[in-house]
Amino acid sequence: MTDEIEILAGAVRAGDRRALARAITLVESAREDHRAKADRLLEVLADSERQALRIGLSGTPGVGKSTFIEAFGCMLTEQGLRVAVLAVDPSSARTGGSILGDKTRMERLARDPKAFIRPSPSQTQLGGVARRTRDAVALCEAAGFDIVLIETVGVGQSETIVADMSDLFVLLIAPAGGDELQGVKRGIMEIADLILVNKADGALKQVATRTVADYAGALRLLRKREGDPEGYPKAMPVSAVEGAGLSEAWAAMSELAEFRRDTGFWRARRAAQARHWFEDEVRQGLLRRLQEDPEAEAAMDALGHEVAEGRRAPGAAASDVLARLGGSD
Ligand code: GDP
Repeated sequence: MTDEIEILAGAVRAGDRRALARAITLVESAREDHRAKADRLLEVLADSERQALRIGLSGTPGVGKSTFIEAFGCMLTEQGLRVAVLAVDPSSARTGGSILGDKTRMERLARDPKAFIRPSPSQTQLGGVARRTRDAVALCEAAGFDIVLIETVGVGQSETIVADMSDLFVLLIAPAGGDELQGVKRGIMEIADLILVNKADGALKQVATRTVADYAGALRLLRKREGDPEGYPKAMPVSAVEGAGLSEAWAAMSELAEFRRDTGFWRARRAAQARHWFEDEVRQGLLRRLQEDPEAEAAMDALGHEVAEGRRAPGAAASDVLARLGGSD
């Protein structure tokens, strides 16, 4: 028996971009009935053997992410690869709008039949955006895209969230003096596989070369990651505007991806990510249940007072609240 969801799944598998857009809209929907359909769609498509290379890309506003993705994406489609671009935009949590949502940012790539660009879902919670983006990644993968680029502005937790759904994580930075190096949080350096110093052109070229050397030095001080070849993580210069260094950056990404595939690190990383997201979903679900259950809310309130006044121990009081959630649905 074929139903609406199976037809949609078939169209997504066939690489129909409009169907893919509709499928993503479905997984982004907050409506309960849509959620149920979305879950089924994702289950139907879960058996897909297709695997894209998922590349996370982060950088502060103005560093050149859109320019880079446009140039890099077009280079890849010219090589015959199909490229999807998704975004996790933490600012949408604050403004309700999406700064990464502007399709006109990447006009040439947006018109390319081998590319698919999806703006960031507007959501009030970064956790919600993460889930929807993750689902969108799975849909793009099932639709046969070779590369899925997941873009984020480097603020707050969004880099970690994106790194947790990527096979490779690329950090785009601007040329700057040694002081700026401090500006990149150590945690971000630790998750970056490739640091690309953009705008290595014109007057900035020399500064960019120095910046690359600074970062290369800093990266060497970090412990070599298990499962990675010599020389990684790596810092390289690029110019998104001139297109310089893009093929070298792609060669490095491909080399790292190949290496990780061969060693089994790729599979292990995906397995760990899947487990992480599963556990995250369970936690979020529990939290939702708690928030949606008026009795539990009231108990939280009452017990919260008792704990604050020292009449109950925090752990025991928490067990009381959790016991109310058990078993019900
Ligand atoms: P985003 O906010 O990270 O998406 O950055 P954009 O792609 O919008 O670029 C911000 C500004 O930097 C724009 O004025 C771009 O033209 C400029 N820009 C981007 N890439 C380069 C580059 O490789 N070289 C130079 N010189 N400027 C660039």
